[in-house]
Amino acid sequence: MSLSYDVVIIGSGAGGGTMARALAPTGARILIVERGGPVPQEPENWDPAAVWKQLRYRATEKWLDATGAEFLPYTHYGLGGNTKFWGSVLYRLRREDFGAMQHADGVSPAWPIDYDTLAPWYDRAEQLYHVHGQAGADPTDPPRGPFPHAPIPHSSGMSALVTALEAQGLHPSPLPLGLIRPGEDGGCLLCDTCNSFPCRIHAKSDAEVCGVRPALEHANVELWTRASALRLVTDPSGRRIEAAEIQREGGVVRVTATRFVVSCGAVNSAALLLRSASDQHPGGLANSSGLIGRRYMAHLATMMQGFNPLKHNDTVFQKTVAINDFYLTSRGTPYPLGQIQSQGRTHGVMAQAVVPWIPLWAYDAWVARGVDWLVMSEDLPRDDNRVTVDASGRVRLHYEPNNVTAHRRLVKEWTRVLHRLGFWKVMTYSHGSRNTTHQCGTLVFGHDPTTSVLDTFCRAHDVDNLFVVDASFFPSSAAVNPGLTIIAQALRVADHIKDDMR
Ligand SMILES: Cc1cc2nc3c(=O)[nH]c(=O)nc-3n(C[C@H](O)[C@H](O)[C@H](O)COP(=O)(O)OP(=O)(O)OC[C@H]3O[C@@H](n4cnc5c(N)ncnc54)[C@H](O)[C@@H]3O)c2cc1C
Ligand code: SF4
Repeated sequence: MSLSYDVVIIGSGAGGGTMARALAPTGARILIVERGGPVPQEPENWDPAAVWKQLRYRATEKWLDATGAEFLPYTHYGLGGNTKFWGSVLYRLRREDFGAMQHADGVSPAWPIDYDTLAPWYDRAEQLYHVHGQAGADPTDPPRGPFPHAPIPHSSGMSALVTALEAQGLHPSPLPLGLIRPGEDGGCLLCDTCNSFPCRIHAKSDAEVCGVRPALEHANVELWTRASALRLVTDPSGRRIEAAEIQREGGVVRVTATRFVVSCGAVNSAALLLRSASDQHPGGLANSSGLIGRRYMAHLATMMQGFNPLKHNDTVFQKTVAINDFYLTSRGTPYPLGQIQSQGRTHGVMAQAVVPWIPLWAYDAWVARGVDWLVMSEDLPRDDNRVTVDASGRVRLHYEPNNVTAHRRLVKEWTRVLHRLGFWKVMTYSHGSRNTTHQCGTLVFGHDPTTSVLDTFCRAHDVDNLFVVDASFFPSSAAVNPGLTIIAQALRVADHIKDDMR
């Protein structure tokens, strides 16, 4: 069977879902191909045991690490991709992130576009994903207008911590958050099961709710779920993709199109192009630079909890505070250290998933007296941190975290601050090198085809009708959450494709 479309979008996460919404009004015949199914709206959405113990929504596919050992990546295959599970912290990169920056363990390279180039699409991304925040409160904010929505107010407990942080000379600011009508009838409930959980009432700004669903209101857009792209096949010149081979309902379907937009996530997009090697592209599709899969980055992330046995934490929605005082070379730091944000509440079963022998009642008592933080540092691009596929097409991830010096120092700084805030003990936990949640960088964009895979509109240098709009294009990872930048660039690329269609 062979079917024909104007645009085939592969993957429905931050990049693909946004692209579908942006192109839908053009009337072009669009097919969205998504390997997972829709996440059902069900009681388990907000059940910490279902999400953290039974791993109900996680991808079951295992990847190989550099030693050949299997591991379960922290990723999700489903409609809306990983955005269904995100904390919806939707940051712009800082202006400095677009330039080259010296870090403790190396240089973070410059982007081929600057902040001002992307700024108009950041504005639109924040509108589309209902971002709440307060312009001017964060000293590292790039130049910008007001947020579309007012910031989410801190709980009284977090407000008190903000005041105490200010007394230490820090500059806490409201986290920019994508939530739909918080506190209103039928809107977001500001509950304690948001980050890492799907939203049972569709009040989180994810790529299904803000991207795919509005796109499907247009009759020209079609969605296939549980359909996985296996290979992309070029014409004899090798300059154009002719067809995608899609595994669907037990068979393989051939789909032709004028344009293909790949957005499978940084690891799977690289894997798809590597699996699409052919006589014209022996090292993988569009891989004349040899860079496909290389420069994989993932952020260095540590979860920290300040514990005070004498103080019950009554906050329900805790994820409202950001601290960027250590983001640049300021506040006495010789190099950038990274970002700190308050985290969603830890539940006893989440902690028990890490050390199972401690009884749940002990964990519950512990986490009821803890305040949770996420501490994140920039990961630097290295050619030998890379995605490859083995002979059977299976993903292999070779990854050694780097910029560890900066991250250790940030954890130390934050530990000191938490002690000064009165917490008796500070707990830390990291998924380490297996944390694939902020994966990026495997198909870097740039001007020069010998040092990048994609051009500045995310079109492959080697293949005229191939675009990639997920996190693969990042030349550096910055140290803020990647989602809004993926969305903004997808909107920018969509405008470019629209111009091209005319
Ligand atoms: C628990 C968690 C919390 C997070 N919190 C935040 C946050 O607060 N803020 C933030 O900015 N980021 C956050 N992130 C990261 C964010 O979710 C990702 O950066 C973002 O979703 C990446 O977008 P993407 O388009 O690159 O890929 P994804 O959103 O992962 O989408 C890729 C899609 O492609 C599909 N796919 C893969 N291979 C194929 C194939 N061969 N054929 C068809 N379909 C395929 C997948 O099923 C998936 O739906 C979080 C991630 C996790 C897991
Ligand atoms: S109700 Fe709000 S806080 Fe709760 S999961 Fe949904 S979006 Fe997140």
